[in-house]
Amino acid sequence: MTLKKYQAKRKFASTPEPKGKIKKTVGNRFVVQKHQATHLHYDFRLEADGVLKSWAVPKGVPEVKGVKHLAVEVEDHPVSYINFKGVIPVGNYGAGMVEIWDKGKYILLEKNKKAIKFILKGKILQGEYVLFNFKGKNWLIFKV
Ligand code: MN
Repeated sequence: MTLKKYQAKRKFASTPEPKGKIKKTVGNRFVVQKHQATHLHYDFRLEADGVLKSWAVPKGVPEVKGVKHLAVEVEDHPVSYINFKGVIPVGNYGAGMVEIWDKGKYILLEKNKKAIKFILKGKILQGEYVLFNFKGKNWLIFKV
């Protein structure tokens, strides 16, 4: 894990986002941030290995079993990003409003090259989920 890509994309003098650093803790939290950027999308983030593993989910994380949504893997974010909400000013990467749509804890069930299985314990999202890597940075997220 690294925050180099995250930090290289941002100008911390002009965005309220945290610069962040890699934590020593493993962590077990998740967040879904609603991000009204050029295109509305939802950012799904799992705390793991001292960072937030992150995916952009155009249609959001499904609440109903069997509905599969595309989740595009993006750069690791700092753990402190888990509480970030606010407006990223025009002219900055990802400019637009960020709101916390859901957050909570997760329990990791299984992780391999192609799939991550976990239980979400959020306010909105509850139950067993799978992230399945089908091509490059493209994953599917769905409830089982
Ligand atoms: Mn985003």
